Amino acid sequence: MRTAPPDVRALLDLEAAFSAHNYHPLDVVLEKGEGVWVWDVEGRRYMDLLSAYGAVNQGHNHPRIVEALISQARRLALTSRAFRNDRFGPFCRKVTGLLGYGKVLMMNSGAEAVETAIKAARRWGYRKKGVPGDRAEILVFENNFHGRTTTIVGFSTDPGTRADFGPFAPGFRTLPFGDADAVARAMTPNVVGVLVEPIQGEAGVIVPPRGFLRRLREICDEHRALLLMDEIQSGLGRTGKLLAQEREQVRADGVIIGKALSGGLYPVSAFLADDEVMDVFGPGSHGSTYGGNPLACAVAEAALDVLVEERLPERAQELGEHLQARLSALRSPRVRETRVVGLWAGIELDPAAGGARRYTEALRGKGFLCKETHTHTIRLAPPLVISRAEIDAALDALAAVLA
Ligand SMILES: *Cc1c(COP(=O)(O)O)cnc(C)c1O
Repeated sequence: MRTAPPDVRALLDLEAAFSAHNYHPLDVVLEKGEGVWVWDVEGRRYMDLLSAYGAVNQGHNHPRIVEALISQARRLALTSRAFRNDRFGPFCRKVTGLLGYGKVLMMNSGAEAVETAIKAARRWGYRKKGVPGDRAEILVFENNFHGRTTTIVGFSTDPGTRADFGPFAPGFRTLPFGDADAVARAMTPNVVGVLVEPIQGEAGVIVPPRGFLRRLREICDEHRALLLMDEIQSGLGRTGKLLAQEREQVRADGVIIGKALSGGLYPVSAFLADDEVMDVFGPGSHGSTYGGNPLACAVAEAALDVLVEERLPERAQELGEHLQARLSALRSPRVRETRVVGLWAGIELDPAAGGARRYTEALRGKGFLCKETHTHTIRLAPPLVISRAEIDAALDALAAVLA
């Protein structure tokens, strides 16, 4: 039974008083989730059209993943890698087999897995390619988002992300996203890797020109550099494929995953590559206290099983076509462009519309939660378990607020 209704204002005040103000959330305080639905502390139900930036592709509190979490927590949660655990090997076999790479290195947050890829590429450059010490370069792209560590924000082009956090690590060069010729021109013998999101999520679901990833593959082969794909948001079903790189039949030398790897139950991330790259890591060269812990492995194994057995990538492909059709039929003077891949959409508003925030607030009032990215883009990334009727309801609401 429920006690006195919580005072929402008081909860907001606690955050304001005691948390760093490093986010600007919608003022909705959630306490329960199931599938595509979440409930606030006053019992109002909302459709989640963001899924924690794609971490909840499997839907909130998927019973099978919850069960894996609880039963593993009862047995053993953390050993550190000082000892071995019985969930680690089976998970490593599953994730490498599913994604088609020789080896995996497990971490926790997405940013840590990106750091792992950077370390792998640099060491590979020095030890295998013969780049002179401390001269390795990695090519990255404008409007990238790869996480929040000091190294990573150092090569962000978003002023809010990097202002006054320097000095930054050298060794990165930034190029226009989608411009393969610029990449070809930027190649030098010291380039060890090209780090790219196959589709830029935080930037607003920016899809590069067709053939861009293929060209990157060719250029990397020609110049003996590693192609490193950050699939933390684009991967694990979101675009209609297990990995977005499959859309262009490209295979990166290293792939970074996170977010939906645990279905939202626990932070789990990973870097995958073949032996040629991964064997640069020997004992003591890299690690994390929680990386590869039994709880993470059990949760991630269940999360991958759900993706495959419920055919969530296929579902994203099919329903994504419906989402695309609905969005392209949306007639609003406030919308400048819509971009859709699988169940992932960026709705770019005309600057005259006054910014996306007012529309995400209006949608929230109608029971739909999504978030603006940058100032003028509404991003939709619902759990992949969403139904066609639910998409229709969301699009009706969107059309109403944008009318
Ligand atoms: C979310 C995200 C990250 C960072 O992941 P965290 O778990 O927040 O550290 C990195 N790259 C991409 C593409 C992301 O979407």
